[in-house]
Amino acid sequence: MVTTGRPRVGILALQGDVREHARMLTELGADVLSVRRPADLDGVDGLVIPGGESSVIDKLARAFGVREPIRDAIAAGMPAYGTCAGLILLADRITDGIQGQLTFGGLDVTVRRNAFGTQSDSFETDLDVPALGGPPVHAVFIRAPLVEHAGAGVEVMATLPDGRIVAVRQGALLGTAFHPEVTGEHRFHRLFLDMVVAARGTARVA
Ligand code: GLN
Repeated sequence: MVTTGRPRVGILALQGDVREHARMLTELGADVLSVRRPADLDGVDGLVIPGGESSVIDKLARAFGVREPIRDAIAAGMPAYGTCAGLILLADRITDGIQGQLTFGGLDVTVRRNAFGTQSDSFETDLDVPALGGPPVHAVFIRAPLVEHAGAGVEVMATLPDGRIVAVRQGALLGTAFHPEVTGEHRFHRLFLDMVVAARGTARVA
């Protein structure tokens, strides 16, 4: 039994599907904290950036003064997992952002916003994700982005049947264009918690 404590995972709680991530992480045994201000980052072992609207999250992050602290923490090695809008915010480069849209960066990828069109172009499909093992992942894409280019150090975890990249990992960063948090798919969050615990230098979560 590990007594060093459960992983403390922050969720950037400015906009988006914060509750779904919180439920998932709680079910997996993490302590979940809302992050809205720089001080909220103190004591979190990792950060989830939810789905929502990346340009709004960017604007609110700047308004709350939390953009630079998050960018710097990620650059310093804080684990982070972004779904959909969160993936956009973790990308070093984006295309089709709104004017002046910024990201936190960290993932050496180019991500295209709204790559599949508008809300009506949302879809669901099953994806093979060899790194997770087990059955295919049922993936929900909602105004989803695509990874158009992944740098040499980026692990491609999942593609659509035509080869387009929809899940990546690089170091302590994980990004999916889809939303495991809305389908009860725990494996990405479990992987992320393992990454958080590994980065913290303690044993795996029970
Ligand atoms: N299209 C949204 C964006 O820019 C992402 C959608 C989502 O997170 N479901 O940010």
